[in-house]
Amino acid sequence: MKLSRRIQDIQPSATMKTLGLAKQLQAEGVDMINMGIGEPDFTTPEVIETAAITAIKTGKASFYTPASGLKELKQAISDHFADAFHLNYDLDQIAVTTGAKMALYATFQAILDPGDEVLLPEPYWVSYAEQIKLAGAKPVAAPLDANGRLTVDLLAAKATDQTKAIILNSPQNPTGEIYSRDELIAFGNWAVHQGIVIISDEIYGELVYNGQTFHSMGALGEQIKAQTIIINGVSKTYSMTGWRIGIVMGDAQMIKAISAFVSHATGNPAAVSQYASIEAFRSGATAAEKMRKEFETRLNTIYPKLVAIPGFRLTKKPEGAFYLFPNIEEALALTQLSSTEFVSGLLTEAHVAVVDGIVFGVPGHIRLSYALSLEQLETGVERIKNFVIKNS
Ligand code: PLP
Repeated sequence: MKLSRRIQDIQPSATMKTLGLAKQLQAEGVDMINMGIGEPDFTTPEVIETAAITAIKTGKASFYTPASGLKELKQAISDHFADAFHLNYDLDQIAVTTGAKMALYATFQAILDPGDEVLLPEPYWVSYAEQIKLAGAKPVAAPLDANGRLTVDLLAAKATDQTKAIILNSPQNPTGEIYSRDELIAFGNWAVHQGIVIISDEIYGELVYNGQTFHSMGALGEQIKAQTIIINGVSKTYSMTGWRIGIVMGDAQMIKAISAFVSHATGNPAAVSQYASIEAFRSGATAAEKMRKEFETRLNTIYPKLVAIPGFRLTKKPEGAFYLFPNIEEALALTQLSSTEFVSGLLTEAHVAVVDGIVFGVPGHIRLSYALSLEQLETGVERIKNFVIKNS
């Protein structure tokens, strides 16, 4: 069957591909350490599961809800983010979607026209580019400076008359870096001045470590807020990737357009997941904090071991999310392997799954997730080290 031109241009999610291969080897009995994953390894906190079971048992989960989510959930979202990030969004400024992926997809469908360009600071999460293309628009990568930071000058160098939006993702997947308040204000003021929409993906906003502070783009004054669309969800903070609940917050007219779009695309996100999410926002804080602390311990344990691997370089310890994104150019030189050979060698010989940096637009790097037990992480890093030494 002949596929549409639009779909032929789309690459399947490469992180999913790695995950699939690792799972296949695991199923064949291989003792695999999967550092390629992009989801917390904890099961959803019990208090949230219980709320979901109650929603099922009382029949509340049986029926359609409004396409952009239950009013009760929007209220819980509004209250939570007022508390957590000093945000101030009314219920008509909030849409609930089937995961943050759909929050982004619906946003692109709502604001992008063919020919529009969207600036993507590089490295960037792989789905942004593909989703932008699906909206008929063009992703434009904006590389970082030599210190690995994004600056207004770098953005300005890539902006054209077609630039419609910029995506900021802090804490960032894959680097785990967060932008400072001053940096965000500089990007925000620049975007406001240029009339460029800011899409701020804050899905990892509550996973920050070692006393760092996350600042939401929606809390930096009315002018920047008016130009900003916030993306968030329950997947990472509450270990609810399987439940598929995402959030868009922004201008009421844009939210109305997104609601109309999802009403035709997905209909409402699963009712049971919405009831579970209400509970997550109302009483999931203690469980979320326990998981955050566990990630922090893992990061602090694994970071020094990772940078001690020959040829692995990280300019600084990541501040959020649950990924490490070392530069491995020297390790590639030592082993005389291409990055593809390095990643597939790790998978098939060392039995460690990681994601090639090329997927995020930055070759010579790999992404490792620390959403694994400490014991698995230590084994994984040891295996990587031995792989580099053996092949050098
Ligand atoms: N945004 C970023 C930066 C992500 O890393 C992910 C998931 O990996 C998402 C959005 C999507 O989250 P969800 O599982 O809610 O669709």
